[in-house]
Amino acid sequence: MNEFESMKARLRLSADDRLLLDEVPMILTPRWFFVGIMKRVMSVAGPEAARRVYYDAGFDGAYSWGRKQIEKGLTGRAIMEQYLGSMTIRGWGRFEIVQFDEERGTGQFRFFHSAVALEWEKAEFETCLWAPGAIAGAIQVILDHRGIDLKARAIEKKCLAQGQPFCEFWAEPSGQARGA
Ligand SMILES: [Zn+2]
Repeated sequence: MNEFESMKARLRLSADDRLLLDEVPMILTPRWFFVGIMKRVMSVAGPEAARRVYYDAGFDGAYSWGRKQIEKGLTGRAIMEQYLGSMTIRGWGRFEIVQFDEERGTGQFRFFHSAVALEWEKAEFETCLWAPGAIAGAIQVILDHRGIDLKARAIEKKCLAQGQPFCEFWAEPSGQARGA
């Protein structure tokens, strides 16, 4: 069974109308709905606030997901691979780890067929606002689990929506100790 088929087999609708992937409640939604909200946040709150909102939401989402994988026994790079693989089969686009140092919190990640960029079609800026935070959140949960005192950070350096062949993210810790 491939990963997508296996995910479908683990998806179920509970008696009280919750769509569950294992024990995580999910919402299956058209990408235009997600991007429509994103565009409205951008126009109402401005690009800076929108970037912060989606970065932080991506960070928290990936961190929580990573905690679940730790409970299942994953550690280090396996958490990152599970998370990115899961996002891929959930329709966000296909991630590829170019390099990742789980002790330094650094890395380079490619992202093909970004659902958000494809929905946006064309933009002068990087549109995958959720993804840098998500990568940073996945790195943070790995660092925290290893007891490494760094604050994970990531940025999108280029985007499919800007006419690039794929999106690319770079991760580098802020240099400050977590909580400093
Ligand atoms: Zn992008």
